[in-house]
Amino acid sequence: KASYDDLSHALSALVISHRGKLIELESQTGEIIFCQYRQNLGAIVAGDNVLYLLQDNSEYGVICQILPRSNVLIRPSKLAHNHKTMAANIDQLIIMLAVNPPPIEHYIDRYLVAAHHMNVKPIIVLNKMDLFDDADNKVQLEAIIHLYRGLDYELITCSALCHKNLQALKTLLQHKTSIIVGQSGVGKSEMLNALFGTNITLTGEISEQNSRGKHTTTSARLFHLDQDTNIIDSPGIREFGIWHLDKADIFAGFKEFTQLENECKFRNCEHIENTKGCAINEAVAADRISKQRFINYHRLIHEYLDYKN
Ligand code: GDP
Ligand code: ZN
Repeated sequence: KASYDDLSHALSALVISHRGKLIELESQTGEIIFCQYRQNLGAIVAGDNVLYLLQDNSEYGVICQILPRSNVLIRPSKLAHNHKTMAANIDQLIIMLAVNPPPIEHYIDRYLVAAHHMNVKPIIVLNKMDLFDDADNKVQLEAIIHLYRGLDYELITCSALCHKNLQALKTLLQHKTSIIVGQSGVGKSEMLNALFGTNITLTGEISEQNSRGKHTTTSARLFHLDQDTNIIDSPGIREFGIWHLDKADIFAGFKEFTQLENECKFRNCEHIENTKGCAINEAVAADRISKQRFINYHRLIHEYLDYKN
């Protein structure tokens, strides 16, 4: 009988999701394996690479080690210090917007701050462009496109419904593990179905009936779409906060601000509105930094301060 500590027969696999008390893995040969795990390993999440052993006397394997992670996605909790690890080993964050429902501007920057903190590449997708010509928020949308492209973020306009301009996005997703965030109704499910012809429903909790009975998954789930193209999703991931970040983390997520940091007259300048001699304030006045970004930045800082108090 294999001992937990003898890893010579252990195999590596990718974590798909939690299933009740078990963890669903995909082996290197593409097999689905259900495993037990030991609490002392800590949280095991979608996207983790783990080592597992098969057990002679059980239909389940057992996970014995979590392999080193490149990063984790944390869902912060407002309550106590209940932050929850949701996913691991993420390459990029797809920030999905739509012509309708209209984008909420500070959400975009919140996600960009989170992406910076996680060290993942953000990609902004503006969907439902088929509705653009008749939209009454054209000015807002054009400003968003101009602003974020001007800051050198990848921003793709497309229509999932009309299959317009999807190839560029597909190319960006391929061979990567991505997380898709965005308000409900922007077309995340429609997009994945259009791109990969799968029937993923991203809405609500996923529950499935199988030979082991009904399982409800509230944890994140990894969708293996292609050879090495993965999407990790869950209702909790799609609308996450950044309460676990401090003021310096928020500032660091505004990349055009960070370039001016050393030019502020004051050491430890907090760049609050109307500070004379603050390089950020001066850049906003001179139109070198977007007023909208400055507003969004303060909104995030105030949220942080409210949370702290
Ligand atoms: P999710 O909540 O982000 O997963 O959004 P869904 O994929 O469920 O899409 C919400 C609604 O928007 C559905 O009725 C879709 O058919 C519609 N939709 C998605 N993409 C497009 C698009 O490119 N153009 C238009 N006009 N509607 C779209
Ligand atoms: Zn300043």
